[in-house]
Amino acid sequence: MGNLDGKVIIVTGASRGIGAAAAVALGKAAGANVMLTARDGALAEQVAQSVGANAAAMACDVSDFASVERLVAATTERFGRLDAVVNNAGVIEPIVSVAESDPAAWARNIDINLTGAYHVIRAVLPGMLAAGGGTIVNVSSGAAIRPLEGWSAYCSGKAGLHMLTRAVALETAGKGIRVFGFQPGTTDTDMQVLIRASGVNPVSQIPRQNLTPVAHPAAAIVYLCTAAADDLNGQEFSLRDEPFRARLGLD
Ligand code: NAP
Repeated sequence: MGNLDGKVIIVTGASRGIGAAAAVALGKAAGANVMLTARDGALAEQVAQSVGANAAAMACDVSDFASVERLVAATTERFGRLDAVVNNAGVIEPIVSVAESDPAAWARNIDINLTGAYHVIRAVLPGMLAAGGGTIVNVSSGAAIRPLEGWSAYCSGKAGLHMLTRAVALETAGKGIRVFGFQPGTTDTDMQVLIRASGVNPVSQIPRQNLTPVAHPAAAIVYLCTAAADDLNGQEFSLRDEPFRARLGLD
């Protein structure tokens, strides 16, 4: 029995990396029913099978609102309700200077990292408001508040997501909605493989052994989905924040 027993949670970008680890932690340790999604639905399905019968998976591109609407409908049909969403899907590319960037590739990053999260929130918020409760966890980044060379699209999208968290908090205050931003810090995933290969900016120079294991951000995401985080509503947290780490028992 976990502390999220019976809750129904969608995790986007759950085929690998932080999203997969969070979905497994939510489904296995915390006992939630989990809908895992990514563009590669087969890979998300493999992760879902490792969780068990309380997990399902389907392909979804968060940049496509119709695809997100199908995801939400399939989730409520399968599990009967929806309590939380984890907006984790994200991409780092294009890694290129503003002067040399391709406008379509730049816009594609924003379509996924910012508009994709908006799509999920837009699709679930009316139902959460009608139900009088719901949780939204937006996986942000330190790049939301710190510019890094070659990452203008990523930094801009995450800065927008940071503001979207605040805007949703403002508009839903007093209506039972809990919304959080969460910055995982440099974590050992495929995204960091791409960053290291680029050789651009100081993050690419961080040795793999110095990266955070996915279990740490996964534990933080589980925590934010529980009532223990009620008093943190409307704020954005970094896994580097000492008081937040202490709550998670990481220090
Ligand atoms: P990752 O290993 O590259 O995984 C990204 C996930 O997002 C995959 O499941 C991917 O699956 C999915 N995804 C990408 N585009 C999508 C789309 N259009 N629609 C649906 N799903 C999509 O990355 P990660 O490192 O775990 O990152 C997870 C989140 O943490 C991201 O938001 C990232 O910005 C944030 N973050 C990561 C770090 C870090 O150091 N790793 C640091 C700060 C913040 P498909 O390709 O199959 O769609």
